[in-house]
Amino acid sequence: MIVEMKRKASREDIEGVIAKATSMGFGYQLNLGTDKSVVAILGDRTGQIETDHFAVLPGVERVIRIMRPFKLAAREFHPDDTTVALPNCEVGAEALTMMAGPCTIETFDQAMETARVVKEAGVGVLRAGTRKPRTSPFKFRGLSLHESLDILEAIKKETGLAVVSEVVEVNNVDLVAEHVDLIQIGARNMQNYDLLEAAGKAGLPVLLKRGLAATIEEWLQAADYILSTDNPNVILCERGIRTFETATRFTLDVGAVPVVKKLSHLPIIIDPSHAAGYSEFVGALAKAGVAAGADGLLVEVHPSPKDALVDGSQSLTFARFRALVEELKPIACAVGRDL
Ligand code: PEP
Ligand code: MN
Repeated sequence: MIVEMKRKASREDIEGVIAKATSMGFGYQLNLGTDKSVVAILGDRTGQIETDHFAVLPGVERVIRIMRPFKLAAREFHPDDTTVALPNCEVGAEALTMMAGPCTIETFDQAMETARVVKEAGVGVLRAGTRKPRTSPFKFRGLSLHESLDILEAIKKETGLAVVSEVVEVNNVDLVAEHVDLIQIGARNMQNYDLLEAAGKAGLPVLLKRGLAATIEEWLQAADYILSTDNPNVILCERGIRTFETATRFTLDVGAVPVVKKLSHLPIIIDPSHAAGYSEFVGALAKAGVAAGADGLLVEVHPSPKDALVDGSQSLTFARFRALVEELKPIACAVGRDL
């Protein structure tokens, strides 16, 4: 249930709504909007609480039941777009946020060389996986977490890039959080609810990838797990879903961008690399994502894709990556964004 306060509601009025919710045994979250404030009343498992309990309180404009299964991620709770601040950019603001780098850290040189190219291309965020959730246990699953994190530290020190990296285990969340600027939750863990809560509590922004076969509603409910830890900094990432089509690795659901923009206030970026599966298609999907209104891109780049230990077929060479950044500029401009 959402309690929308009047424009002129006082802090006391807001406290009154919170006190009522608390006295009835409900939780709450407050969105102190620029225009007006909204209080989400949480935990009404039966859907039975009367809206009148709140509608009669001073300063209340109206009370709406959110019939959607997701609540805190819903635009009704937070009418303005959320932007998420990273050290050198703001995701969801006018400028698009590019995140690029290797799927996985394989060696110091491979990761550092890629980071330098990413930086030279004007990109502010390095993506680089540490421990990987591989579909087969017999494939390369990354260096040890400590080795990878040491390499990330060295890269950050030299380049000043912000870093996004995936965490796959609850027990490692705090360690990874000490070394990255944005915690990535991978597609395979979108419904690992303990991990979502642990990532939310780490206090850093969280990049939440869409599950391979998750509906947008399920994805936004997963976002609610993070938001419910009082961490408002969630970025959604559409990375392709499983369909009957096998010509690409997954099917980029480009329609998810306008749908998410309608249903939610959270920023959304596109990962064309995992969707395409083949580097030759990555550019077209990246452009489609930007044209559809995505707030940024997450792209895999490797010094020598043919030798990559993970996701080489979809990784861009340095030359192709630099060209793509240039090709994206007029498209960003056409939809009123900068790059
Ligand atoms: C990745 O970003 O390298 C990754 C494993 O992505 P996803 O979780 O989308 O498969
Ligand atoms: Mn990958």
